Amino acid sequence: MKATLIDGAVIARKLLDRLRPRIAALGARGITPGLAAILVGDNAASEVYVRNKVRACSDLGLKSEVHRLGEKCTEAELITVIEKLNHDPLIHGVLLQLPLPRHLDAERTTACISAAKDVDGFSWENLGALVAGHPRLAPCTALGVMAMIEHEGIAVEGANAVVVGRSVAVGKPTALMLIARGATVTVCTSKTRDLARHTRDAEIVVVAVGKPGTVTGPMLKPGAAGFDVGINRLADGKIAGDVDFVSASAVASRITPVPGGVGRMTVAALMANTVTAAEQFLARRS
Ligand code: NAP
Repeated sequence: MKATLIDGAVIARKLLDRLRPRIAALGARGITPGLAAILVGDNAASEVYVRNKVRACSDLGLKSEVHRLGEKCTEAELITVIEKLNHDPLIHGVLLQLPLPRHLDAERTTACISAAKDVDGFSWENLGALVAGHPRLAPCTALGVMAMIEHEGIAVEGANAVVVGRSVAVGKPTALMLIARGATVTVCTSKTRDLARHTRDAEIVVVAVGKPGTVTGPMLKPGAAGFDVGINRLADGKIAGDVDFVSASAVASRITPVPGGVGRMTVAALMANTVTAAEQFLARRS
């Protein structure tokens, strides 16, 4: 079998195009959705991610701001910036680009972002809503994977799905969304004894680990759909996912590439969350 490529660029563009009438409707009510990104220190990868988000805002006609803080900034300084943005009526979404310098606590500072503006969906309030089955602003990468699954018409109800990785940012919310759609979900971690035993039983495999080659072709069930969330910079400077693309695409029926796969969807889902946050702002104001 030769897997069909699930093209993140194409699916993301469709998702973004579906936002345009919603953005126009907000514009007619005098609102331009606004996203503020906070960037602490000088992490090169974070610079790229924030640049991509700013570009996506500009392509859609959304307002965007980047607030830069020095590598040595204190937690109090960071929280002051977050609180100012929480109260800024022209900003509907606030995101704190991770990772932070080691002396700053990501969980504590992220928790300071108002749930109504938490477009990354990492606040306990928004995660709790997802657990309860009433999602509000949900984590973007998980939303992106689910949008790809929907676009491809992959049957989720009754399917066996494996999510490799249990981070709050990706693994757990993806598992919750698959559960909500009726999949039987297994979550594997670094402690899982025999990863292949689980992945070989799944029609849907989502891998969010951060280690190249975590899942290979022989670990997949023939015909499975593979979603590779990982972004790893190799020694030769190239970017690779967590799935061994060559061997996996010989076994899977569909597979996402890296780059050009899930990453595009994450940014598109962030745009969708920002528009949703602006709509909710308007609903509260009306
Ligand atoms: P993370 O917080 O470091 O979590 C990694 C998870 O992988 C942990 O739950 C860990 O298990 C598990 N793990 C580690 N080694 C494993 C192994 N050998 N077998 C099975 N599970 C293993 O990372 P993350 O934030 O979820 O990100 C994961 C990857 O996705 C990274 O490469 C990141 O750059 C990328 N990413 C991409 C996007 C995108 O838009 N494409 C978005 C976010 C993240 P334990 O909990 O037991 O340690």
